[in-house]
Amino acid sequence: MSDRIFNFSPGPAVLPEEVLREAQEALWNLDGSGIGVLEHSHRGPAIDEIFASTQAACRALAGIPDAYRILFLQGGASTQFAMLPANFLPDDGTADYLCTGSWSKKAIAEASRFGAVHVAASSEESNFSFVPRGDEVRYSTRPVYVHFTSNNTIFGTQYGEEPAAPEGAWLGCDASSDLFSRPLDVTRYGLIYAGAQKNLGPAGVTLVIVREDLLERAVRELPTMLRYRIHAEKDSRYNTPPVFGVYLMGRVFRWLLERGGLEAVAAANEAKARRVYDAIDASSFFRGTARPDSRSLMNVTFRAPSEDLEAAFVAEAAKQGLSGLKGHRSVGGMRASLYNALPPVACEALVQFMKDFEQREG
Ligand SMILES: *Cc1c(COP(=O)(O)O)cnc(C)c1O
Repeated sequence: MSDRIFNFSPGPAVLPEEVLREAQEALWNLDGSGIGVLEHSHRGPAIDEIFASTQAACRALAGIPDAYRILFLQGGASTQFAMLPANFLPDDGTADYLCTGSWSKKAIAEASRFGAVHVAASSEESNFSFVPRGDEVRYSTRPVYVHFTSNNTIFGTQYGEEPAAPEGAWLGCDASSDLFSRPLDVTRYGLIYAGAQKNLGPAGVTLVIVREDLLERAVRELPTMLRYRIHAEKDSRYNTPPVFGVYLMGRVFRWLLERGGLEAVAAANEAKARRVYDAIDASSFFRGTARPDSRSLMNVTFRAPSEDLEAAFVAEAAKQGLSGLKGHRSVGGMRASLYNALPPVACEALVQFMKDFEQREG
């Protein structure tokens, strides 16, 4: 443990230590099978068990009803940007998108290849410093679905709750950087997806939660690998799946359950974020970049008085074992990513470093 430092990286990101220790063992010999997790056939009983238990833990964790399927896909959230509209947006249909950052823009660009996209709200003019809600959102008359990004990893903003979709439209969500950081009501959604590497597990597996009746509503013939229905029918094993990612995600789900589930995790995450935001708000040196009512509990973005000071902050923090604090180039400054597995002591250390730095340089 002593050879690990505090990792504030936006993704791939910190994973729970207990899970990593267990994975080391499983890499060598999975559950006494004499074969490591990477070496088992994906059609054998050991991997059957991993798929079943990962799905069961996922259902238990988020209260996912039977009417939803849980899929383990590849290609990252970026493939979902295209796969979702490819399956569900007809040539002559319209989908509504809330544009709240770079990832939303990429999702919009992909959807535009398949049908009409109506941008129902955008915060681009204010460099995505907030998430539009309520009467800031203007839906089209009959969207097939409404797509939003629940947490904007780069800009440090987050929806406190789901936007309400208009009658007849289902909600689609890119939840890559905040899924299972707090409770959610899955029944409000048609489809939720998340690349695992922010908050759920390793890169290479994408979690998709999809309402079963949508699987029958695919609007065009697609290559086999791009059809949700095929992956659902084949239990995410139409081809060789990302077995290790599924294994590790299952361990993370169980780790979250052991810690009391999503309510408890959310309380811990709120406390961690509050610690850092309070330090920013109490300082005349640092300032947050997100509008306070849209602040993300996962990615805290903030600035110092000059770019030179910001560069010094990031470099000195790294020397003191606080890694990954450089902001995305489109926002500048600093970003502290406080995912589920980041321990509260990391936030304490960051806040202490911020105070020291301000005293020295302020
Ligand atoms: C990181 C991220 C993505 C991109 O994920 P990939 O798995 O690399 O394709 C998409 N959306 C959000 C919100 C992200 O944070």
